[in-house]
Amino acid sequence: MAMGLPVIGFVCSLSVIIQYRKKLKKGQFIAMLLFEIMPGIGAVIQVFFYGVSTINITVGFGTICMFGELMLWQNKEVGKVARTEVRTGLANEHGVIEELRAIQAAGKASDYAVISFDIARFSLVNNKYGMEIGTQVLIRYAQTLSRHLEKDEFIGRQGSDHFLAIIRQKNTEEFLKLLSGCLVKFVYKEQDVDVILSAVSGVYKIRENDTDVEEIIANAYTALTYAKNVVKHDSFEMTQETIAQIGERKKFEGMLPEAIRREEFLVYYQPKVNSRTRLLVGAEALVRWMHEGELISPGKFIPVMESNDLICTMDYYMLDHVCADLEEWIEKGLVPPTVSVNFSRRNLTNKNIAKDIDGIVQKHHVPKKLIEIEITETVDEFPLSVLKGFVDELHRLGYRVAVDDFGCGSSSLSLLREITFDTLKIDKGFVDRAYAKDLTILGFIIKMAKAINLEILAEGVEQEEQINTLLSLGCEVIQGYYFDKPLPHETMERRLNNRDYYQER
Ligand code: C2E
Ligand code: CA
Ligand code: CA
Repeated sequence: MAMGLPVIGFVCSLSVIIQYRKKLKKGQFIAMLLFEIMPGIGAVIQVFFYGVSTINITVGFGTICMFGELMLWQNKEVGKVARTEVRTGLANEHGVIEELRAIQAAGKASDYAVISFDIARFSLVNNKYGMEIGTQVLIRYAQTLSRHLEKDEFIGRQGSDHFLAIIRQKNTEEFLKLLSGCLVKFVYKEQDVDVILSAVSGVYKIRENDTDVEEIIANAYTALTYAKNVVKHDSFEMTQETIAQIGERKKFEGMLPEAIRREEFLVYYQPKVNSRTRLLVGAEALVRWMHEGELISPGKFIPVMESNDLICTMDYYMLDHVCADLEEWIEKGLVPPTVSVNFSRRNLTNKNIAKDIDGIVQKHHVPKKLIEIEITETVDEFPLSVLKGFVDELHRLGYRVAVDDFGCGSSSLSLLREITFDTLKIDKGFVDRAYAKDLTILGFIIKMAKAINLEILAEGVEQEEQINTLLSLGCEVIQGYYFDKPLPHETMERRLNNRDYYQER
């Protein structure tokens, strides 16, 4: 009986350690086993040689058990501190990683998605209420979101206003809806305040064969970066398809600067035709990439160039080549029409953009009236005043400016009120939907444009009926496959040589 006591104590504390085995690192587990085994064996030997002293044994084993418990408690607390932010009490990235590991160990990872999200314009809260309240709002935010989670779902903060969540795949949609507008209540100067916080998110749904937790989190983070900087949507999901696309983009990204140096980009010209007179009245310069014998369209590389500032180099490259072509055609005795060149809004960060454009045109001795600059209507990341400054400066220098893709953004009317353009290009999307209500709107746009002396052009016209509709609404100048696709240099030259080309269509 007396011998049984230390053995029972020994077995009990051993079982406690085994129970916590999964939470202990391998080294800790072995060390604790030794701590348990050595005194346990010692106690058995003591009883065997010196006889039984119940108090001795009880105290001895009590100490051993307490020691074991203490070690476990300490280990748990250290783990908790490492997984939790001291200041906010919110779980941190380590916490999320551990949680994900536990889900993985249970073989359930492929039921879950990892969502990396960033609160949009959180600096406004900090600026208005101060950093201290800002931190409280973040805590409230995480708590509010947590209230909507199932018990096996989890949220942690990665830093500042950037969070990570592990959500069941079936609940992803609902969680994203919550992220798009989450009401947070807090107290400021003894007043109740409500703010609605919306977040941009990157989603990665875990697959059966995903084993690397860090990689899973990195995929969600890359998706977030894509949502913010590339697709500019509230949310972006990283799938196997998008991972492959991103791989291709990365490959392109590396190749593009060298391709510019090697002059692999070609200028194609899409004619603009007056549908009433059937005369060639202009052309738009559109870039094509001749890479390893294949002609690559801009849809594949312009977005890549837009995401770094290579697009600005590209736009100057295009202008330079257009001016060289115009110079050549004029020298050959041809009479080229005005050519429009696309300039990305990214160029607006360059204060000297108008002067740089002028420098290139002057270098080639091209009459200024032969160049028109096209800029898209959306000016999201720039104040209207910056675009206005650019347009005014171009006018002062003697160039025409067109507003591109009109009708597909949301700032259209204020844009026209604030800035004087020369040409308004109606987006293909609008031309395609030119029936019923949209037809009425299109009619008003054309009327309004004419009233403020804008030249009007419809893009992407493919069918005869569209031409008739546009003509009846008062829009004569057409750019679209109906007349011509974008043409290489030599074909464009042939059009300039054959002024009657469109009369026969
Ligand atoms: P965008 O400026 O709106 O150019 C018009 C696009 O519509 C061109 O596509 C043109 O080929 C296409 N298009 C014209 N008519 C029709 C039609 O009847 N049907 C259809 N389905 N499509 C038509 P593209 O050449 O692929 O260029 C796509 C976009 O890439 C351009 O849209 C422009 O935003 C950008 N881009 C092209 N070249 C440059 C450039 O040199 N600089 C900059 N910044 N962007 C460029
Ligand atoms: Ca354009
Ligand atoms: Ca356009």
